[in-house]
Amino acid sequence: MNAAPSPRIAARPARAPGAHALRVAHHLRGTSLNRALDVVGDWWTQRILRECFLGVRNFEAFRVNLAVPRQTLSARLKLLAGHGILDTAGGDYRLTACGRALFPWALMVWAWIAKWGGGDPRHPRELTHAGCGHAMHPRFACGACGAAVGLRDVEVRDAPGVRLLAAAASSGDRRWAAGRFLLTPREGAEHIAFVTADRWAHLILSAVFLGCRSFDVLARETGAATNILAHRLGVLVAAGFLVKRRAADDGRRFDYALTDRGRDVYPLTITLVQWADRWLPRKGGAPMLRIHRGCGAVLDARVVCSACGGELLPRDVTFTLPPAAPAPTRGDAHG
Ligand SMILES: [Zn+2]
Ligand SMILES: [Zn+2]
Repeated sequence: MNAAPSPRIAARPARAPGAHALRVAHHLRGTSLNRALDVVGDWWTQRILRECFLGVRNFEAFRVNLAVPRQTLSARLKLLAGHGILDTAGGDYRLTACGRALFPWALMVWAWIAKWGGGDPRHPRELTHAGCGHAMHPRFACGACGAAVGLRDVEVRDAPGVRLLAAAASSGDRRWAAGRFLLTPREGAEHIAFVTADRWAHLILSAVFLGCRSFDVLARETGAATNILAHRLGVLVAAGFLVKRRAADDGRRFDYALTDRGRDVYPLTITLVQWADRWLPRKGGAPMLRIHRGCGAVLDARVVCSACGGELLPRDVTFTLPPAAPAPTRGDAHG
């Protein structure tokens, strides 16, 4: 395992979470993140997609590279085809335009692992941009002004769609409790999978991105049952995405703050949300607008080459894989 930088405690956010707590619930309920996770929020699905971006198209190659049970693989491929992400017309498995549009998200997952460690044998060591010929890191940038963007550079505002959400029932939320998750992620790659492949973990982290800090507020705004919330918060702290500390305004309470490691998940979330906004649109429009503070434009984030600033498309990026190593053996735990 790579030596990952140790998490640092984030500075407190500029705004008070209580001021728009109700809005957070509406945002979370209607966020495209939920729809995206319905489709790709699964351990095996995410590994299959990575193989697709590495150029794999054949059932046996997926099976061998991932050491995935045949039945599991077959079921996931069928789901991906059903969602219009894979095209099986030619007898193999090719990404559709909808599937290729997940590339920015796949690159942000790569960048997170490259920075925080824990890559597995199928995690490319190096990316090269054919457009400029340089080895590079994918960078999360504002599509309007080109500046690098992080959580602190983005302001959230209500969009008209939030009114519809205020009246919407949240009964559907409960079924999430049955979602699969990694109970005990061991290191970086599994940590990030815990967040990307577990709906509650990702939703809770998103609530922290929106300013929620205390257990009570997180329970109210996410709608998570307290046992689910306690478990996910425990793992998010153990995995270094959050720190638990005494609340500044009341020493008897604890709250949760982002670490740099946790804050670096933001680009993964937004690339997924933008994908769902485009490919899985809902009636009534998006519930929130993200504004890039730097230029004032509505954020239309792009993933660009750190060397030349050009937008990264699947056909323009080549990979260097580590030398062949034994296939991962822990896969059946995530069945
Ligand atoms: Zn901008
Ligand atoms: Zn480039």
